[in-house]
Amino acid sequence: MSIHVFPAPARIVAPVAQEAGTFPVRRLFCVGRNYAAHAREMGADPEREPPFFFTKPADALVTSGADTPYPPMTENLHHEIELVVAIGKGGAAIPEATALAHVYGYAVGLDLTRRDLQEEAKAMRRPWDMAKGFDASAPLGDIQPAARIGHPAKGRITLKVNGQLRQDGDLADQIWRVPEIIACLSRLVALAPGDLIFTGTPEGVGPLRRGDVLEGAIAGVGSLQTKIV
Ligand code: MN
Repeated sequence: MSIHVFPAPARIVAPVAQEAGTFPVRRLFCVGRNYAAHAREMGADPEREPPFFFTKPADALVTSGADTPYPPMTENLHHEIELVVAIGKGGAAIPEATALAHVYGYAVGLDLTRRDLQEEAKAMRRPWDMAKGFDASAPLGDIQPAARIGHPAKGRITLKVNGQLRQDGDLADQIWRVPEIIACLSRLVALAPGDLIFTGTPEGVGPLRRGDVLEGAIAGVGSLQTKIV
């Protein structure tokens, strides 16, 4: 038995739709550039690049439709609406063919980005951490168990800001599909139950302001609401 020198922080959890129990969150992984049209709008060539990953701290999550504070040190906070994969069973070097057996469920998430800091980091060949992994940078809708909704490989993914459609894509346009993402990521790190994987955003990313009301949705998966305050 060990005791802590100060009270340990509460476990980070994410709500699961229609369940009394919550999903205990371990780590947040994110895929960069996973839709060709978004890769092009960011000035990259979508065809030649294998998937790459970055991370956010687990306590960057904003759940249950709570408000999202506008972060400091940016003049250009961007929205990126994404399908999020919730890992229920861990593993390393998971084969693509059995990857979906490691998925507990899916959710709608936002990979909020301090785009000005990201552009500076890219230009200076520095890490993206402070552009991507800031406090409250990962709003998340309720997790939907795959046992209930299956494993969506297609379906409209949209983000409305103040009722106006800003992002509109389809999961079918992902460059790397969920089984491929799990296979690639699990070769780099051993995945564990509680890991969440943000799978990239379709085109149409853009700036947010305080007071903006965001509504994300993925057909067959669910929805996400948050207000920037
Ligand atoms: Mn993203």
